[in-house]
Amino acid sequence: MRDSKKKILVSGGAGFLGSHLCDRLLEQGHDVLCVDNFFTGSKENVKHLLSNPHFELMRHDVTFPLYVEVDQIYNLACPASPVHYQFDPVQTTKTSVHGAINMLGLAKRVKARILQASTSEVYGDPEVHPQPESYFGKVNPIGIRSCYDEGKRCAETLFFDYHRQHQLDIKVIRIFNTYGPRMHPNDGRVVSNFIVQALQGKDITIYGDGQQTRSFCYVDDLIRGMISMMETPDGFTGPINIGNPGEFTMLELAELVIKLTGSKSKLVFLPKPEDDPKQRRPDISLAKDVLKWTPNVQLEEGLKKTIDYFRATI
Ligand code: NAD
Ligand code: UDP
Repeated sequence: MRDSKKKILVSGGAGFLGSHLCDRLLEQGHDVLCVDNFFTGSKENVKHLLSNPHFELMRHDVTFPLYVEVDQIYNLACPASPVHYQFDPVQTTKTSVHGAINMLGLAKRVKARILQASTSEVYGDPEVHPQPESYFGKVNPIGIRSCYDEGKRCAETLFFDYHRQHQLDIKVIRIFNTYGPRMHPNDGRVVSNFIVQALQGKDITIYGDGQQTRSFCYVDDLIRGMISMMETPDGFTGPINIGNPGEFTMLELAELVIKLTGSKSKLVFLPKPEDDPKQRRPDISLAKDVLKWTPNVQLEEGLKKTIDYFRATI
């Protein structure tokens, strides 16, 4: 490892995915610079790393330029939960777009390889199912999810233009719903909501009729896929889907969470949010082919680990 030791910047490194990524990169022997403005992330997520001499934590908002020297950049800074990205939608777009410009500018100056954490949201409410990377998506440009969806789409555009125009070494992954320990209990995403509600004996909130589907990837699988993508040879840019193709309705998820927690919580049905996608499942042929990656952790096993985490923390 000594020869391939790198200085790696993780923006959004104090968030749910970012903190797991920092863990893995440090385990691999790299130096990690974690940059975060703590909007949705927290020092708590990286507290166990603060005494590690190979880890550095910097409070910084990626909408402002950053001057550091690094070999690789993972750009994860952006709130990911609808509740949080809709709280200050203008800031969400700025984080995706200005954040991408600043991180790409940094990569250009220091000749670093840079990976963008894009999202299945670029497919919007998809008419093609499952979604391959070649599908351009069906996205509302003026709805309440647009600050996130269009921000992430524009970030992808910037990545590819920096690649074409400035020969930047880019990697783009499209992440499908990922869950696991260190999700914020009030994050608002479905897995954390259902588990916290079940453990606290509160009603489980199903939005709409619960027939909409999602595919849930356990965090360890996702991080393995993300790092494999970063390690692909020069010239392979993606975009590449990373997610677990198992597809579940929200009703099935709620029933599984109730079974695994032994909760007596009841289901309540609330209005479905505007533009909430009806179905979502990744086509992961490309990841299987190029990265030799498939997810290993199936939903029940991943939920048990996540339930154990929330039992211990809330
Ligand atoms: P998260 O909210 O836990 O993490 C995002 C991190 O970015 C937080 O630590 C937050 O404080 C930080 N941040 C936000 N705005 C910032 C800014 N302007 N400057 C610096 N830091 C800022 O969410 P997550 O689930 O860990 O998501 C990480 C990345 O992965 C995001 O870019 C998200 O869009 C993407 N993603 C996640 C999922 C998922 O299911 N978890 C799915 C698709 C894409
Ligand atoms: N959802 C739900 N109850 C909740 C939170 C979310 O039924 O308490 C639904 C939501 O409407 C969506 C799905 O679960 O259809 C996934 O929502 P999440 O916010 O986790 O992710 P995204 O919509 O971005 O995929």
